[in-house]
Amino acid sequence: MTNKNEILFARAQKTTPGGVNSPVRAFRSVGGTPRFITRAEGAYFWDAEDQRYIDYIGSWGPAIVGHAHPDVVKAVQEAAARGLSFGAPTEGEVLMAEEICNIVPGVEQIRLVSSGTEATMSALRLARGATKRDKIIKFEGCYHGHADALLVKAGSGLLTFGNPTSAGVPEDFSKHTLVLDYNNSQQLEDVFQSIGDQIACIIVEPVAGNMNLIRATPEFLQTMRRLCTKHGSVLIFDEVMCGFRVGLQGAQALYGIQADLVCMGKVIGGGLPVAAFGGRADLMAHMAPLGGVYQAGTLSGNPVAVAAGMTTLKIIQQPGFYEQLTAQTRKLADGLTAVGQQAGFDFCADAVGGMFGLYFAAQIPDSYAAMMATDKGKFNRFFHLMLDAGVYLAPSAFEAGFVSIAHDDAIIDTTIAAAKQAFSTL
Ligand SMILES: *Cc1c(COP(=O)(O)O)cnc(C)c1O
Repeated sequence: MTNKNEILFARAQKTTPGGVNSPVRAFRSVGGTPRFITRAEGAYFWDAEDQRYIDYIGSWGPAIVGHAHPDVVKAVQEAAARGLSFGAPTEGEVLMAEEICNIVPGVEQIRLVSSGTEATMSALRLARGATKRDKIIKFEGCYHGHADALLVKAGSGLLTFGNPTSAGVPEDFSKHTLVLDYNNSQQLEDVFQSIGDQIACIIVEPVAGNMNLIRATPEFLQTMRRLCTKHGSVLIFDEVMCGFRVGLQGAQALYGIQADLVCMGKVIGGGLPVAAFGGRADLMAHMAPLGGVYQAGTLSGNPVAVAAGMTTLKIIQQPGFYEQLTAQTRKLADGLTAVGQQAGFDFCADAVGGMFGLYFAAQIPDSYAAMMATDKGKFNRFFHLMLDAGVYLAPSAFEAGFVSIAHDDAIIDTTIAAAKQAFSTL
């Protein structure tokens, strides 16, 4: 064995389960050897063999301004030189909270945490604490991090509470989680009709990015807003992925719907571990030390991470940033759709802001079931042809892709040309 990626992967598997610290990195879905990344700049990263790739995962979202942006790197270096962590409040956290409250509709107060999982887990606890109710609603195919109550798949039939999707989650923990179909408003109506007064919250990805990309219909989100208001349930938008990605103000602004709580992550850390949850001040007042809902974190609001996040937030607010990001991502989606269809495949693509989905299907899927029916085998072969051509797509047919502001016309054109070649081989 001489390939450095293979050597590293073999070594990694001796000391780390599956050789990776987060499962999708292992390439299990597409097969083959994961690339071990040594460095990244702009729209590119390089693996252990010094092979360069156009990167379309962008660390799964955070790298929106491009990798190793000089302003972000400088801010991190300066913050690091002042000390890595204090366990006491800093001005940086105040500025970051003010910045996010200014940008994100309806967010009056916010708490910083270190991962999206912490953000959703804490928002859920807050919703339950504030409503004094236990039951929650989530939708099949939405991912909200790996907290016990959220690793739940649909039970059979409406009003059947879910089964754990992970070993190690007691059924007692998942029995309060009701799993419904994404984009199915009637199911929501039916459930609220029968047990609306027991529902603490709905948690939803308003633009779903963890079952590939699926847009919520406006009606679906409007229905949940109306039902939550009527029944005193908390509406939680999990914008860990789509926040600051589908547009500066996230899915709330895109759909003109305000949630009660919003979870954020990925982009707001700019590549370092920052996530957050926030929303209505009367709800946030239930958080310790003010209220009875406990939540804490040794590294929450870490000064180095906040420096990276804050600098990223400044860059994305520069005039024209989202217009350009959206245009480039649309150009990519339309270009890929064109070459795929010209080659005779049932293939299409969609883009919202700076995220996109690729589907081996005749039509853009609008439900979990439709997504599961797409041609995974074709995607896997396409993935490897693109990888060999130096284009790194998400290593799964059921993950979204991400474009950064550093993906210029030449890079998008190169990608589409590579795809044209891949489709002709496929
Ligand atoms: C990534 C993600 C999470 C989990 O965030 P981590 O930082 O990986 O814990 C939660 N919700 C959504 C929608 C995500 O995309």
